[in-house]
Formats: sequence, C-alpha cells, structure tokens
Amino acid sequence: MSETRPESVVVLGAGVAGLCTALALAPTGRSITLLERDAPPPDGGADAVFEHWQRRGASQLRHSHAFLARLRKLIASEHPALLAALQEAGARDLRFADGLPDPLKAGYVPLPEDEEMAILVSRRTTLEMVIRRYVEQSPNVMIRSEVFVSGLLCERDAAGHLVARGYRLQDGEAVCGDLVVDAGGRSSPMIDWLTEAGGSVTETAEDCAILYYTRFYQLLPGQVEPPRGRHAPNGDLGYLKFGVFPADNGTFSITMAVPEVEEALRAAVVRPEIFEAICGRLPGLAPWTDTAKAAPVSKVYAMGDLKSRWREMVPAGEPAALNLFCVGDSLVRTNPLYGRGCSFAAIEAHALRDILAETADPTGRARAYSARARATLEPFYLDMCTQDRAAARRAAHGLDPDYRPPWRARLMRRFIEDGVGVAVRQDADLFRAAMRAFHMLDPPRAWLGRPATLIKIFGAMARGRKANAHLYPEKPGPDRWEMFAALGLPAGADLARLKAAA
Ligand SMILES: Cc1cc2nc3c(=O)[nH]c(=O)nc-3n(C[C@H](O)[C@H](O)[C@H](O)COP(=O)(O)OP(=O)(O)OC[C@H]3O[C@@H](n4cnc5c(N)ncnc54)[C@H](O)[C@@H]3O)c2cc1C
Repeated sequence: MSETRPESVVVLGAGVAGLCTALALAPTGRSITLLERDAPPPDGGADAVFEHWQRRGASQLRHSHAFLARLRKLIASEHPALLAALQEAGARDLRFADGLPDPLKAGYVPLPEDEEMAILVSRRTTLEMVIRRYVEQSPNVMIRSEVFVSGLLCERDAAGHLVARGYRLQDGEAVCGDLVVDAGGRSSPMIDWLTEAGGSVTETAEDCAILYYTRFYQLLPGQVEPPRGRHAPNGDLGYLKFGVFPADNGTFSITMAVPEVEEALRAAVVRPEIFEAICGRLPGLAPWTDTAKAAPVSKVYAMGDLKSRWREMVPAGEPAALNLFCVGDSLVRTNPLYGRGCSFAAIEAHALRDILAETADPTGRARAYSARARATLEPFYLDMCTQDRAAARRAAHGLDPDYRPPWRARLMRRFIEDGVGVAVRQDADLFRAAMRAFHMLDPPRAWLGRPATLIKIFGAMARGRKANAHLYPEKPGPDRWEMFAALGLPAGADLARLKAAA
C-alpha cells in the first residue's frame, strides 16, 4: 500500500453491492471506480425511473424489495443523510408496531429497542436510484456506465500467489486498481476467470425450489392503503406464498412465490387474469387489489433460477487471489423470500471497509474478510437452507391428497403451529425475539433455545387448542384443491407427472 496516495478500488457492477461498496469506502478517501454494463437511471423522479430504467444486468429490478431492520439500522447509524434522501424520495418505514398480531395490539407497551425494528420499503428502482445519486456526489467515486467487463486482470507475485490487478473491458481497455471488487451479482463470471487463471474457489449451492411472480399497483386518487385487519397481507398456503410490499409514492407490489413442483400453477399465475383471480380469493390481498382501491401498473414479472449459494474465496485458508474481494450475490446468494440479499451485501461492504483499516497485508485481509462473512452471515444462510429444504418437501407432499406425514413431522408441525405460533401471538417479548431474528438483529435460532421461551411454548401447547382458539391466525386462503378448482386448473396433473417420472 502506498503511503502517499490512497488505494484505488475498481468495482465490477453498480448494483446494490457495488453501490454499498462505494458507500462504505468513499469516506476512507480511496478512489473508487464502478464499471456497470447498464445505462444510468433516466432523469426524473421515482415514477419515471420505475417506468423507463432499462436494467438487463439486474433482472430482479422490478420485483418486490424491502430493506430489513439490520440494513436500515446500518444506513441510519452510518449514513443518516442517505436515509433522509431515501425518505425524501418516498421510501417508508414499516414499524414493529405496524406488524403486531391482533391479540398483542391492545396490551402493547413499546420498548425503546422496537424503534430499530423497522423495515424500509420502496420500489427497488427508487432505492437504487437514490443510493446511486447519493454515492455519485462523493468526489472520489466514479460510475462508468454502459461498459461491459469481459475479464479479470491478474498476475503471479514472486511467491506464486495470484494477485488481482483490475478488469479488462469488452473494447480491450484495462482498468486497474490496488483493490479489485467483484459486485457483479448472481451471474458474475468471476469464478470462471479465476479458474482459468489457476485460482481455486469452492462453492455450495442449492435450489430455492420456488419461482417469484410480482405485479405493481398504484393507489387510485384519494385512496389509502387498506388497514391491517384480521387477515394478514402475507401468508403461506403451502402451494403458494404471498405478500404485499407497500412502496413509495402510492405504489405497492404483490409477490407470489410458487413451489417448483407446482407446474400448472406456475404456468398460470403469470397471466394477469389468474394473478388477479388468486388475489381476489385471498382475504389478505383482496382489499388491496379491489379495483375501487388500486390499479395494476405493470405486467406480472416472473423470475426463476433462484438459488442459495455460498462461495468460499479462501478455501483452506488460501486466497484464490490477493487484493480481490467479492461483495453481494457474487459471494453469497440467498432466497429472495427472506429479503436478506441487500442486507448481506451492505454488511459485507462495511466489513470490507473495517478489515482494510485493520491490516494492509493482502493475505491477512482475504482471510479476515472470509472469516467475518462466516461469523456474521453463515448462521442466517444455513438456517435459511434448512427451512427451504423443509418447505420444498412440504410442497411436494402437498400435491398428494392422500399423503399422511410421519409422526415426527406431525409432532414438529404441532410444535410450530400449536406451540411457537400461539406463544408468539400471545407474548410480546417472544414476538419481539422472533422478529429480531427475522431482521438479522440477533442470531437466527438463539431465541428458540432459551429455557424461558421453551417454557412459554410448551405452556401454550399444554393449554390446548380450545383454550387458545383466539390466538390462532385466520386461515390465509383456500386449500389447494379449492383454489385450483376455482381457477380451472388441473389439481392432479403435477402429482401424475411426478409419479410417472419416479
Ligand atoms: C426476485 C428477487 C427479490 C428480491 N428481494 C429482495 C428483498 O426484498 N430484499 C433484499 O434485501 N434482497 C432482495 N433480493 C436480493 C437482492 O436483489 C440482491 O441480493 C442484491 O441485488 C445483490 O446485489 P448485487 O450488487 O450483488 O447484484 P445486482 O444488484 O444484481 O447487481 C449486479 C450488477 O453488476 C452488473 N454487471 C454484471 N455483470 C457485469 C459485467 N460483465 N460488466 C459490467 N457490469 C456487470 C449488473 O448490470 C448489475 O448492475 C431479491 C432478489 C430477487 C432475485
């Protein structure tokens, strides 16, 4: 590291991770260049950007996005002016109190810590536009748009280590930096480039086993969002998960996640009339899509190939390349259902900043960055993969009306529905603990293992379903066969296909 000039950083990608890298590193005085294949957002406000911004490099741009409390807290504490800019553009907080289940509302006593448990909601186009315009104000940040990165520049040092030097653009130009960051997202070709150069990376990946379908809406003039009533605006029917994402400037989106095994439903839900018919049959969604309340302003966007993936850039303690850091989806991809991808990216970018300050040794930096990701993010990643495998199994069994789960699965279901589900709807402290884990403010499962929690859960089970009747959530919608019949879809076709394949 030069003593006279700050390090230069060259970043592949100006999506969320690239922008978070610039956000974290700009105050350190380093000069930062982001290389982005897509054009910048068009001039104008949030609506113009939503309507016209072409982003072939980020196909999730027009899917529902929310920033979990962990990310909102990071922005509030480290970049308060950015939070103000986001709010100015229409991004809003969904507060802890807004999401309280009905049985807890009357006796709710706010605690100071509840303040930090807010989700920031907005269209992703708005979030990205504001963060981009914010980081572009730093004199040491430059975003070069419409340049396609086609290769990694690297060489071997005297000790034989691969050292990253920068990127090659499609037109042959070399863009070099002291530090090289890959924020190229889910389809970053970094691993191929490293492998070609003789570097070694390990990765584990599994399918999320769902597809995502999103449609955007605009509230009609004079209309406000429906109040949160007995029926939650999100739910899990097994064959379908759904949720409303309130957004900026009178907009909101509805996302449906359909298990991969539900081929008939997957083919149908992308049709606007089917999407609307489903909304109309779900009591938590119907008030939102009522044609007197709101109008759709987009098609139904579909997205597949959703994977969870963890890349180890320092396998067995040996960095694949020195001075190279992956941030965001190029390092870890997560199931979008959990809304964690942007939080992961921001946490990684800020961890990188801290590690660069702690040591100038390239090997030490690579190892510390990998260890920090493992320590802070891996528990959430592993917990998510476990939950996803269980959801995929449930969805496959759900195709078979005669399926009877084994006793262990029935017991676990009882524990979750009659124990955990009831206890968190009765006890504000338990609900708070569960939400803190959801928001990545506390480790994912620690709260469930506490003796005080278990006493409350088993106490709820011991009281029995009759005594607890008022604590169960309303059924989120019709069962699979009822819904398929209403939509005119063949309910047995997917099971027949699976049986034939087996
Ligand atoms: C359907 C869906 C819904 C999601 N919802 C949420 C949510 O609610 N909350 C949340 O936190 N996360 C959510 N995520 C995850 C989130 O979108 C990602 O984790 C986040 O965008 C990762 O940022 P990134 O910068 O790594 O990738 P991206 O944001 O995808 O950015 C990658 C950038 O690299 C550029 N690029 C790629 N290759 C090149 C190249 N060769 N040359 C130049 N530029 C290149 C691309 O154009 C792009 O701009 C969701 C994801 C999906 C798929």
